[in-house]
Amino acid sequence: MEPSLPRFQKAHGKSEAEIRRRILQAIFEMRLPPGERLTEEQLAETFDVSRTVVRQAIARLSQDGILVKIPNIGTTVAAPTRKETRDILAVRKMVEPAIVRILSAAPVGGGLERIHAHLARETTARAKGDRGTLVRLTGEFHLLLAEVAANDVLTRLMTSLQTLTCLAILLYAEQNEACPPDEHSRIVEAIAGGDGERAATEMLQHLQHVEFDLHLDRAEPGSPLSDTIAWLRGNAVG
Ligand SMILES: [Zn+2]
Repeated sequence: MEPSLPRFQKAHGKSEAEIRRRILQAIFEMRLPPGERLTEEQLAETFDVSRTVVRQAIARLSQDGILVKIPNIGTTVAAPTRKETRDILAVRKMVEPAIVRILSAAPVGGGLERIHAHLARETTARAKGDRGTLVRLTGEFHLLLAEVAANDVLTRLMTSLQTLTCLAILLYAEQNEACPPDEHSRIVEAIAGGDGERAATEMLQHLQHVEFDLHLDRAEPGSPLSDTIAWLRGNAVG
């Protein structure tokens, strides 16, 4: 991860929704790491919009838990703890099997074509070794399923859950891998065959693999300073 601030391309007069989309995309591509500080001035300058528009985008992303306002520090990208990440994945395991059941039961028409086209883009990015794009596309796959289910509340919920999962991957996964290969295509195959139960099982197993790679059963790391203070007090263990 590059230590410098993310560089968005200069974009004139973007709308609030477009700014949000670009920030989410930067997180999905792992260009905007957890804990990164964002300022209204920086974003207003980058997107060439007023600070009012930036404030609206920050407010909405904060409501969804993606940005966090910290007193005396400002606005930062969320850095979910292991406990928060376990909670996020618990909700995903409830919601996403239900989404694929809905898609398997109802004829999704053009939706299925969009999902297949998306899978093809994932395959191309994987073959090219284009990791940034692949990580973004595998994240967006989960949002696309919610979008095709045509439920705006689900889409907003999944946007928040998927974005926070991406940030947790950067924090806790030993390798910042995308979703394991082939699992998305197995889910889509079951949806296309109208087999809701199989689609739900495949999705649940997929999310269990994502969770396993995050090693969430490990203890939260103590800060180096608190470890030092514990040592100075003679409380050091091991
Ligand atoms: Zn996935």
